[in-house]
Amino acid sequence: MNKKEAKIKIEQLTQTIREHNHNYYVLNSPTITDFEYDILLADLAQLEKMFPQFAYPDSPTQTVGSDLFKQSDNTNETHKQKSFLQHTHKYPMLSLSNTYSIEELNSFNDRIIKGTSGEFNYSCELKFDGTAICLTYKNGELVRALTRGDGSIGDDVTLNVKQIKSIPHTLKNSPTLPDEFEIRGEIYMPYSAFDNLNYQRELEEEPPFANPRNAAAGSLKQLDPEIVKERGLECTLYHLITPSPIAQTHWEALQLAKEWGLPISEHSRICNDINEVFNYINEWDTKRRELPFATDGIVIKVNQLNVQQSLGYTAKSPRWATAFKFKPEQALTPLLSVDYQVGRTGAVTPVANLEPVQLSGTMVKRASLHNADQIELLDIKIGDYVYVEKGGEIIPKITGVEKGKREESVKDIVFPTQCPVCGATLVRDTDEAKHFCPNSDNCPPQIKGKFIHFISRKAMAINAGEATIEQLYNKGLIYSLSDLYSIKEEELLSLDKWKEKSVKNFLDSLEKSKNVPFERVLYALGIRHVGETTAKSLAYAYKSIDNLADATKEDLLQIDEIGEKLADSIVNYFMDSRHIQMIGEMKQAGLKLSIDSSANAIESEKLKGLTIVISGNFSISREELKKTIEKHSGKVGSSISSNTNYMVAGEKCGPSKLQKAEKLGTKIISEEEFYKLIQD
Ligand SMILES: [Zn+2]
Repeated sequence: MNKKEAKIKIEQLTQTIREHNHNYYVLNSPTITDFEYDILLADLAQLEKMFPQFAYPDSPTQTVGSDLFKQSDNTNETHKQKSFLQHTHKYPMLSLSNTYSIEELNSFNDRIIKGTSGEFNYSCELKFDGTAICLTYKNGELVRALTRGDGSIGDDVTLNVKQIKSIPHTLKNSPTLPDEFEIRGEIYMPYSAFDNLNYQRELEEEPPFANPRNAAAGSLKQLDPEIVKERGLECTLYHLITPSPIAQTHWEALQLAKEWGLPISEHSRICNDINEVFNYINEWDTKRRELPFATDGIVIKVNQLNVQQSLGYTAKSPRWATAFKFKPEQALTPLLSVDYQVGRTGAVTPVANLEPVQLSGTMVKRASLHNADQIELLDIKIGDYVYVEKGGEIIPKITGVEKGKREESVKDIVFPTQCPVCGATLVRDTDEAKHFCPNSDNCPPQIKGKFIHFISRKAMAINAGEATIEQLYNKGLIYSLSDLYSIKEEELLSLDKWKEKSVKNFLDSLEKSKNVPFERVLYALGIRHVGETTAKSLAYAYKSIDNLADATKEDLLQIDEIGEKLADSIVNYFMDSRHIQMIGEMKQAGLKLSIDSSANAIESEKLKGLTIVISGNFSISREELKKTIEKHSGKVGSSISSNTNYMVAGEKCGPSKLQKAEKLGTKIISEEEFYKLIQD
């Protein structure tokens, strides 16, 4: 490679890696695997070593990837995310160097031995696949939680972190407890919580998270702490920083932290030499597959704090620690055929049937192909040998085709034009990659899907599962959602394995669901694109289902957050006479189809005498935010005046309002600060 080529290549790689950093750290939606990313980074580092004159001073090889959110970012969960307050890290938050190779780990060990004269050993720890966090405790109280940010400044996510059960707000009193200290670790999402979250997102037609890591990072950046609470995040801490030393070794320091009540991993081990480190790695490469959470490698740290200190840091990472990452396991196997599954929302997903193959300890027979675009992109044909990978995800995916093994007999994959279940002609919106079956009221998987959504916890919370719905549907007892409320006891007793007790439980829970408030009933109806937040906005704005059914598209567009697509979907829903009939039957059954007047009850007087103006977009609808102000005895002002006490400024807050507020000296607060006003 000549100089000119090297210069161009370095420029290209730097640019590409920066884009991937942004996708990974900010959007929580990576487009390449960690392994592919690490290869790019290693390539760049290699070139920079050969041609240092062309390296950028802020090259990604020298800087920490930033998770800081910019206004222009369009993320997976845009409407719920916003900038956080930011704080400077007291000590820079670096990342770890990493390697996939045993030889490099050996050189790491050699460098340590060369660089130190004293005795040392290693602390080996599982590398949890989550998002980094830095906690500050003062006098035993959790006072601040910052994300890594760009390494020197992080987002303040204290309120969100306080929703994570394993993180104590107050520590146990102990003579060893310093007045103030920092402790760093990882916030992660166990597989069970991850599956649950993606299931909910599927119901609400939101894009699923690619893996638990992205889900954890995305959840931590939610603006509403209540949402964080429901996401089932966990935490493990691995690096204690005290103003003055309280232990000789890293290991002892963590033991003290554990005594104070902080969550420390149980899977760490002291290794006396590099061979013991390799044993630890080999052991966990297999055992980690049984863990209920994702890990992507092993962290190896010099245990003695004085040795750590003498080794020091590079601009990007400590010299006394490194991460050994596990390669994603791949398997090569023939693609036998493709099935098309119709989901609850009518989305048609191609699923590959594979020649069974062993992968990460399990036998894999099926893998997702996502959509028609993906099939085209990978240029897969039936009969091809395909690469299957299990990354952070649970469902294996096909990552490529071994073209060298392609035979002439391979056949094109022809995406069906008709629904494989009900035969309706499939549709594909121009902006969506997926094909849909539009026959939502008559296509069996979609009907069952509507019931499963209807009974779910955030909707009607009826005590039943998919198997019950399946049975009721197959017996012809339910077709329209309102049918649930006319099922008779003797019909239920005829179901497989149903005894009097289960019948009673089911009927009781149906009865109880009649008290579910209007906004949740509206959500439970499963109107396309109407998620929980939209349902609340609509319920507050229209007060009853009848008013909503009468609303025109123009009316609907007046409401914040309701766009063309949603307005069309709502109008179409109420144009269907079957839906009107069903709603009539629900009214008969006694479901709440209008706002309860008690829903407006006053919760506190915290905002009594205060006039508050809101402007911009928030994590919740504006209607809901206004309602919250009123519930706490505040008054919602329509424009800024000298009587305005606060202005809550959201995303895209009107600049003229801001100017006026500044001019009149009105206190401008963020949504997060507003919640602090009404907190207990
Ligand atoms: Zn269908």
